[in-house]
Amino acid sequence: MTHWTTKLIHTGAQPPEGFESLVTPVYRGSTTLFPSAAAVRDDWHHEAGYTYGLYGTPTSRELAARIAELEKGEHTFLTPGGQAAIALIYLAFSSAGDHVLLPDSAYGPNRILAEEVLRRLGIEVECYPPLAGVQIEKLIRDNTRLVWCESPGSVTMEVQDVPAIVEVAHRHGAEVALDNTYAAGVYFDAFAHGVDVTMQALTKYVGGHSDLLLGSVTVKRHDAYERLGLVHMALGMGASPDDCSLALRGLQTLGVRLEVLGRNALRIAQWLAERPSIETVLHPALPSCPGHGIWRRDFTGATSVFSIVFVEGTSHEAIARFVDALTLFKVGYSWGGVTSLAIPCFDLRRTQGTSYGGRLVRLNVGLENPDDLIADLDQALSRAGL
Ligand SMILES: *Cc1c(COP(=O)(O)O)cnc(C)c1O
Repeated sequence: MTHWTTKLIHTGAQPPEGFESLVTPVYRGSTTLFPSAAAVRDDWHHEAGYTYGLYGTPTSRELAARIAELEKGEHTFLTPGGQAAIALIYLAFSSAGDHVLLPDSAYGPNRILAEEVLRRLGIEVECYPPLAGVQIEKLIRDNTRLVWCESPGSVTMEVQDVPAIVEVAHRHGAEVALDNTYAAGVYFDAFAHGVDVTMQALTKYVGGHSDLLLGSVTVKRHDAYERLGLVHMALGMGASPDDCSLALRGLQTLGVRLEVLGRNALRIAQWLAERPSIETVLHPALPSCPGHGIWRRDFTGATSVFSIVFVEGTSHEAIARFVDALTLFKVGYSWGGVTSLAIPCFDLRRTQGTSYGGRLVRLNVGLENPDDLIADLDQALSRAGL
């Protein structure tokens, strides 16, 4: 007779026959079983099957395969967040003694990683003007191994000439990484434009509901897959199957969400552009956005995040009053969810372009009714005296 404590563990439970769900179940597991001693192996490669939970479960592999397909890549690695995806790319594609170029408009923590951590490890990261295009050639050195693009850039929204940067980088033997979070991996076809490696904060549009943190790194070439896979394994970058399941659910509605978010955000951006207190609206689909022509050439859509710049002379106090007077727009970081958000950017640090005197507020439009959102912005501008 087996003891009851043994029975608690060895239940004989089997997956139910004849039960088929529309959705991928949450497969939890650190240990994954081998059929025999002879079958034991330690191998992170996706084609090696399941060897350990950290290297993938059916839930995370399904999500990775779907992201690879959506981005028209071959292989995707999942990371605990978008920032972890950025770190993975640096560690897989650059080494001590290398020089890396990063757009001045890059996501803030990317720059902090570069300046505070990678510099210490002997990787030199230099910022370049996001609108450099072919002019980036002047900054390329013999040891330039990696060039980052982020298009449009965080907060200041410059749309980059990625194909021009790719052409220069490849001619000098450097690879190009793209933060493709804004485009949700779909509105900009990175691999068709020559990019070597892409990442996304799945936290944003794929998750879509502000309730998970997840990132992805996608490549097309097999050698890049090998390099990334080794570092991904060595760093122990696991993704929770519960979060992967939420991201899989998010994917099902990504199409309709992007369509509505894009339409509502553009309408609100156009309304804001007419306000006398607003100097400019940095929305890629508006001619006032730096790089708008490139957006028209290379992108198939715009999403939900953009920035407004108040006219010169507007005080930070007035801008803070405006943000605080908003009721539907909540104050908080991140974007791509169903809730509208506003974040003032008083301390924006731009060394290769304008930081607009910190008179800038980044908005994320959610799925609320756009008339209600416009009414909210209108009353907040009045209450702030703007
Ligand atoms: C949010 C964001 C990230 C980081 O994603 P997390 O999941 O929050 O770590 C990276 N790049 C861009 C452009 C982002 O907006």
